[in-house]
Amino acid sequence: MTDTHIPDRDASLAAIASLPLRTRLFIDGAFRDAKGGRRFTSENPATGQPIAEVAEGGPEDVDLAVAAARRAADDGRWSRLNPGDRKTLLIAWAERIDAHREELALIETIDSGKPIADTAGFDIAETARCIRWHAEAIDKLYGQVAPAPEGVVATITREPMGVVGAVIPWNYPALMAAWKMGPALATGNTMVIKPASYTALSLLRIAELATEAGVPDGVLNVVPGPGGSVGEALGRHPDVDCLAFTGSTDVGRRFLHYSADGNLKRVLLELGGKSPQIVFPDVTDLASVAANAAIAIFMNMGENCSAGSRLIVHRSKRAALLEALVAELANWPVGDPLDPSSRLGPLISRSQMDTVLDYVESGMGEGARVVTGGEQILRETGGYFVGPTILDGVRNDMRVAREEIFGPVLSVIEFDTEEEAVRIANDTPYGLGASVYTDDLHVAHRVARELRAGVVGVNAYAEGDQTTPFGGYKLSGFGGHDKSVHAHDQYTETKTTWITLRPRP
Ligand code: NAP
Ligand code: MG
Repeated sequence: MTDTHIPDRDASLAAIASLPLRTRLFIDGAFRDAKGGRRFTSENPATGQPIAEVAEGGPEDVDLAVAAARRAADDGRWSRLNPGDRKTLLIAWAERIDAHREELALIETIDSGKPIADTAGFDIAETARCIRWHAEAIDKLYGQVAPAPEGVVATITREPMGVVGAVIPWNYPALMAAWKMGPALATGNTMVIKPASYTALSLLRIAELATEAGVPDGVLNVVPGPGGSVGEALGRHPDVDCLAFTGSTDVGRRFLHYSADGNLKRVLLELGGKSPQIVFPDVTDLASVAANAAIAIFMNMGENCSAGSRLIVHRSKRAALLEALVAELANWPVGDPLDPSSRLGPLISRSQMDTVLDYVESGMGEGARVVTGGEQILRETGGYFVGPTILDGVRNDMRVAREEIFGPVLSVIEFDTEEEAVRIANDTPYGLGASVYTDDLHVAHRVARELRAGVVGVNAYAEGDQTTPFGGYKLSGFGGHDKSVHAHDQYTETKTTWITLRPRP
């Protein structure tokens, strides 16, 4: 892998004019306009200025893309390639993404407002790593032979489902797509993906790079457009065999309805969260807890499904931890996402910023106290910046503790006993992530077992890595997991082949 290089602001500003922005639908290996001829504006949330006019797909374009994906699925140009050959093509694609990392990071940053330190240092590198990881697994996974009776050979094999639709959010535009593309394409499916309208640009370029790397036409198609038309059309399409979604719980539910009303396509949902971080009284290194807690809630401006948005802290440590957290904020400068020292950029949109600020007001109305932040800052930029915000004195029944804010807002809740901490942590409709901070091995194991969440971090905020599955309990997920070989299972059908042998004549 190449070393991470984060370009300075002047270099980025100079590079913007020549960025390869792809703004049309990518169908059957080529860019084309939307059939209806419509376009929508993508803006830079750090400035509020338009950066591109993107073709706005509709149901008729979904039909075209699904037909291309169906042909590619049915004629075996991808599903019946030798596993080693499919692996080679996907790795070539990952290498291309790596080679174009700076350009893709810059596209991602101006389209989404994510800091360049994150997009260049993490998102794009991780996108390539994810695709490579799944590619490398292709020729190392075996089927099974069942313990069938004498005279019978029964094999259990996995086959691609066919056409996988995916609908993606704006918070990690390239990476969330990769979490679907890696395992779905590795297992031999073809795909039609709808990126979020706020952030379609990086995926359009990444799809073009797949074709350049030799991935056959029709295997990967990208149709930007509104969720209510393109997303719903994919969800309802009779020729889509599986639909993978990452986004809000409300929209996620709709895909179950779309499927139930139609072809009963498999639906995989990665949804929202209200993840707890529990700090036990025995912890000694509060600076380390504060550093991890800050990552958990302020990384990606808090626009993170597994954000640790509820800090559940023992009464004896609350004041000292708050002090350590406020000190830690010196390491979280907010500013122009093109400045490599910025750790927080703007929120994705004005409406997301208004939502976040409304939550802060609602918290105050219910008796919480703003320790720091809670306001729009850097207004002169035209962008949607909100500083890291800490609300103290939160009770778990307040709206700020129950609903996903999806912004840089940490709610601090006190507890007295271990039992109470676990009860508060689990008292939520969600169950995506959780963290436990303690130096006591017994507490760590006991509590990690009791937490109803898909990923539990001990003494760190953790989402695991490519080798570990990622998915939620309760309203945080349905039907499957992203990442790891477990993600391969969900994009495949299970086939039993029962072969009876003639007795020897
Ligand atoms: P969202 O409103 O649910 O949108 C997600 C995607 O669904 C977008 O592409 C959107 O399209 C599309 N969509 C909207 N309405 C639709 C409909 N009626 N039918 C079909 N598709 C529709 O969520 P978001 O605001 O983009 O993202 C934030 C949410 O995602 C948060 O709740 C967060 O927790 C969750 N999230 C979860 C994970 C995870 O892995 N669990 C990861 C990241 C984010 P348009 O926006 O283009 O119209
Ligand atoms: Mg944008």
